Amino acid sequence: MRTALLGAARSDALRRAVTSSPATRPVVSRFVAGDDLDAAVRTVRELTAAGLTFTLDHLGEDTTSREQAEATRDAYLHLFRRLADEGLTAGAEASVKLSALGQALPRDGVRVSTGLAAELVAAATENGVLVTLDMEDHTTVDATLETLRTLRAEVPTVGAVLQSMLHRTEADCRDLATAGSRIRLVKGAYAEPESVAFPDKADVDRAYVRCLRILVEGQGYPMVATHDLRLVRIARELVTRTGRDADSYEFQMLYGIQPAEQRRLAEEGATVRVYVPYGTDWYGYFVRRLAERPANVGFFLRSLTTR
Ligand code: FAD
Repeated sequence: MRTALLGAARSDALRRAVTSSPATRPVVSRFVAGDDLDAAVRTVRELTAAGLTFTLDHLGEDTTSREQAEATRDAYLHLFRRLADEGLTAGAEASVKLSALGQALPRDGVRVSTGLAAELVAAATENGVLVTLDMEDHTTVDATLETLRTLRAEVPTVGAVLQSMLHRTEADCRDLATAGSRIRLVKGAYAEPESVAFPDKADVDRAYVRCLRILVEGQGYPMVATHDLRLVRIARELVTRTGRDADSYEFQMLYGIQPAEQRRLAEEGATVRVYVPYGTDWYGYFVRRLAERPANVGFFLRSLTTR
């Protein structure tokens, strides 16, 4: 079912059917802060009032034109100005998908997306906002890490995401566990072939622990992004054992998932960053959230049929 759903994430026909149905709205709003920046600002105000910090994602991916890629950059520039005007930049972060900045455009997609990302990172830095590059499917990992290297030459705080489901990730963790390196560790949200990824969830979880150990024992800044409470517990044990200070790592969770746990961890003194997506292009993000938990699909289908 997970693979079928993740395939649906790339179907234009399904996208049209799902996004045009008003019945989907209440379910989508569990995972997405809203259609516009006003809604995003309202959400991050609530989170900061509860002692949480945030990373904002202007939803969008798989851009097919240079104009669309530039519009994505502009949306982020607008976001940074708004956060500054609202006095919300302290500890703020933005998450960016390079495919939204044109990474897959024919011929010069990597050059275009790296250039736009560099403009975006410069503007974020001017406004005191951090940036992390989201990681998409395995075919994009090399290009994304190359862009990361280019961006870090100017702004070393740019973060990246590594996915424990990929065989290559332990080696990537070793390469990137260097001083100051901000690395978000996730399990991975994309359908991947067995040639590059662990097909069994138990192996993905075991790989997560191995990667976590490399990052926590390394010199960088690990961002432990999971709702798996067993892994959260293991992370806490590892940081205690290695004597890491509370400000040398953080937990991250998605908006709408395990909100009580987010608050509990923050109350215990941990830095907890909530990933807050906003915008109208929510379809791909939403389908990946459905695919993560079969119960979500039932809930979604029931909401469609009970109206
Ligand atoms: P799971 O084993 O999937 O879930 C553990 C428990 O969490 C479940 O039992 C359930 O109780 C709860 N849970 C998990 N997902 C859901 C859900 N959708 N709905 C309701 N409950 C749920 N992936 C990428 O590939 N690239 C990225 O750049 C990326 N960025 C991310 C950023 C953050 C801050 C987070 C938290 C995740 C990100 N992900 C990214 C997604 C990640 O790869 C996983 O798909 C997702 O986090 C689910 O895995 P899990 O670690 O929570 O473990």
